[in-house]
Amino acid sequence: MAIQEVSTPEQSDTPSPSESVVTTMVESADRLRLDREVVDLLRTSWRELHAQLPVRMSDGKLRIFEGYRVQHNGARGPYKGGIRYHPKADLDEVKALAMLMTYKSALMDLPFGGAKGGVMCDPMRMTEHELNILTRTFTDHISMILGVNRDIPAPDMGTNAQTMAWMMDAYGQRYGYTPGIVTGKPVELGGSFGRDQATGRGVSTCMREYARMERSNPGDIRIAVQGYGNVGSWSCRIANGMGFKVVAVSDVKGGLHNPDGIDIAALDKWFAVAGSVAGFPDAIPITNDDLLKIECDYLVPAAVGEVLTAANAPAVKARVVIEAANHPVTPSADAVFAARKIVVLPDILVNAGGVTVSYFEWTQNIQQFRWSLERVNGELESRMTAAFNELATRVAQDGTRHRQAAFDIAVQRVATAIKLRGFI
Ligand code: NAD
Repeated sequence: MAIQEVSTPEQSDTPSPSESVVTTMVESADRLRLDREVVDLLRTSWRELHAQLPVRMSDGKLRIFEGYRVQHNGARGPYKGGIRYHPKADLDEVKALAMLMTYKSALMDLPFGGAKGGVMCDPMRMTEHELNILTRTFTDHISMILGVNRDIPAPDMGTNAQTMAWMMDAYGQRYGYTPGIVTGKPVELGGSFGRDQATGRGVSTCMREYARMERSNPGDIRIAVQGYGNVGSWSCRIANGMGFKVVAVSDVKGGLHNPDGIDIAALDKWFAVAGSVAGFPDAIPITNDDLLKIECDYLVPAAVGEVLTAANAPAVKARVVIEAANHPVTPSADAVFAARKIVVLPDILVNAGGVTVSYFEWTQNIQQFRWSLERVNGELESRMTAAFNELATRVAQDGTRHRQAAFDIAVQRVATAIKLRGFI
């Protein structure tokens, strides 16, 4: 019997997420003429912890989950990065995200290194009790490499403030009360005001600054946002408040299009009941694929990674792609955008609002002090604006693309810290 060959072209010629980040870093190192030894150090992680997580599920059966904590580089400070609960949160993805955290913190000039964690699970299909037990088991298994001055987790896809509360409690049971061990906690447990909206506020600040730079009026700019979770929904709310017109949104269940602008307050009311944007009456239903190709000015992928590929990039109609999600544009799509002169504002700048307010939360916890929401938002906006302007100046000076310039700034800072510390 003949065995049929199954071809998967998108997979075979697409580098893995961690290979893509390494390629971008090496290209930066070449432009910066960095020492090869620094490059070799940055190619791999400092430490990768793989843990087996047995959980007795509500039906009495034992399930063994896999979890990871990857610490990429800590030359600039304690490791920092979120914990992702997702069926596809495999080791390679977590490694790539840990590397991006190193460069994101460096670009924002935060005193942190880069880390990421992941558990391969589907939180949508688990009970609250199962998630609580899984989170405590995971925390116990990685606690020996965590610490307020060592490694500070935060939420990411599939995790939230409640997950961080369980992590803080599990860590505290072993080591004593330590609120600064995680960020993105509930405000009642030492979380910072403004952390929930921070990433979306950072995304919107980038939009506002880009519009200012190109001398456009936000009211004339149509934005399309994929993903209506934490990042996507706050980006829509805050950008809409700045005057931008949100013409399309989507989530995993489907999307909506209204060329005249979607009423975000009404959509939020719909979402609160329906649990999805799908079915919102005052718009035309579209698929997630349609959303990426919709008529708009700024396209904001704010859901999962690798959604813009060589296959759909030629059909994108936006002038600017604003990477709110981590790694939403594959390298081959990036090349298509470069050829089509579509600007891509990179994830390590655009979604850095989250880690920036995590930094504020960590400093507040260390000082046992609380900032007002106004102070958090004001400091965040001024740091995002400064980083945006530094990047724009570098792009203008060097004639590079935004991702290249962002990596050039970040990789140089990390390399300098590595040398000063005497790692090599
Ligand atoms: P979330 O879980 O709150 O929301 C994710 C959204 O994406 C949901 O609306 C979901 O329905 C949608 N979605 C999931 N799979 C999809 C698919 N295949 N197609 C279309 N939509 C899909 O997650 P989040 O915290 O908003 O994170 C979104 C992205 O932003 C991730 O890439 C994450 O790594 C990145 N990010 C988040 C933060 C943060 O502070 N939350 C910070 C930096 C980066």
